[in-house]
Amino acid sequence: MSVSTIAADQSVCAPLPVLGRDVTVPLVTGGEVAYAALDYAASAPALQRVWDDVAAYAPYYGSVHRGAGYLSQLSTDLFENARRTVAEFLGCRAGDQVVFTRSTTDSLNLLARAIPADCRVFVFETEHHASLLPWRDAQVTYLDAPRTPEQAVAILERALADREPHGPALVCVTGASNVTGELWPVRELAAAAHAHGARIVLDAAQLAPHHPVSVTDLDVDWVAFSGHKLYAPFGSGVLAGRADWLRRAEPYLAGGGASRRVTRRTDGGVDVEWHDSAARHEAGSPNVIGAYSIASACKALTEAGFDTLVARERYLIRKVREGLAGVPEVKILSLFGDDAPRVGVISFVVEGWNSSHFAAALSAEYGIGVRDGLFCAHPLVRTLLGSDAQTQGECGAPEAAPGEKSLNAIRVSFGAGT
Ligand code: PLP
Repeated sequence: MSVSTIAADQSVCAPLPVLGRDVTVPLVTGGEVAYAALDYAASAPALQRVWDDVAAYAPYYGSVHRGAGYLSQLSTDLFENARRTVAEFLGCRAGDQVVFTRSTTDSLNLLARAIPADCRVFVFETEHHASLLPWRDAQVTYLDAPRTPEQAVAILERALADREPHGPALVCVTGASNVTGELWPVRELAAAAHAHGARIVLDAAQLAPHHPVSVTDLDVDWVAFSGHKLYAPFGSGVLAGRADWLRRAEPYLAGGGASRRVTRRTDGGVDVEWHDSAARHEAGSPNVIGAYSIASACKALTEAGFDTLVARERYLIRKVREGLAGVPEVKILSLFGDDAPRVGVISFVVEGWNSSHFAAALSAEYGIGVRDGLFCAHPLVRTLLGSDAQTQGECGAPEAAPGEKSLNAIRVSFGAGT
């Protein structure tokens, strides 16, 4: 099956218009071909609609929160309206805060700095490094990889029940795996967390571009996602959820915009009164274009309708899996099994091939852009490959000797714009 076969068989609905669809790339075999981006899980191409919105706003660009001029007022309104749009997109509760960050990684690091000092953090070893690593080592309980969604809930419940002493606790879990695409039982994990007096943050980097994410419906305390995976450009992200821990925390960045009042003390020092709002963690001139484009992407996805997008993506997943099943050397990686519900993220190995070479050949000979490596989820990929080999890094892992297990994998990923 080729990418053009998928494009031709649009019995479900058309893809959302994205940038770069008509980009052609040179092939090593000669000539050039329309580039096929199948690496949405890393970064999705921006929607045409988002660029159009940004272009329409560009002439009105001005400083945010600081200026009396018309353009500053307008930019401030656009920035704060973007916050409201994101809050609506995420089904936020009254009193929740939406903090604009640089990315999911930034959002989770912000939360890691904001949790109480005695907070115990529970995280599955299968997480993306953005969820796995921001926490101070001494405060983390790493949970073993589950093999079913039910087992995930049971493992978490056992760990929470065993925890000692009963201080504050936080569970950090992904909604959809960036390796297998599998959906995690977020609602059930949230119920388990709350039943044991813990809070939960959802890493929605891979979930939000594919499924509706509502903090209210899922009953999660925070959610984090990145603009560049949600069809907006690079450089912006979101942390949204409960205000109390955020409000009590030291500002993530110290500086202008986060401080309400700064006064010189008689002893020579400085007293600072920090904002209680999201601004507390947004010091410096904010990325208004980033926030604005995230809001634009949220609106575009909402207007397209997640029911339609999910139906179309299921169709694409089926076609890709059918195509891969026709190649006997291909083994698809899965934690929860073939029938597990998933988003458009599929990782596999090809027997007899080094994954990096295979991915390079797809690009050089066919113009198909995929990802190879360990996908910033090293423990998970090693579990899935059944390999304890240490690799040199994300891409270009050393070649497995003939007959040896693969040391890394290939990932195709797609979504509403494919
Ligand atoms: N969480 C998951 C599940 C991801 O897939 C990624 C990126 O691939 C991240 C977090 C980190 O996102 P970012 O690189 O935008 O911070």
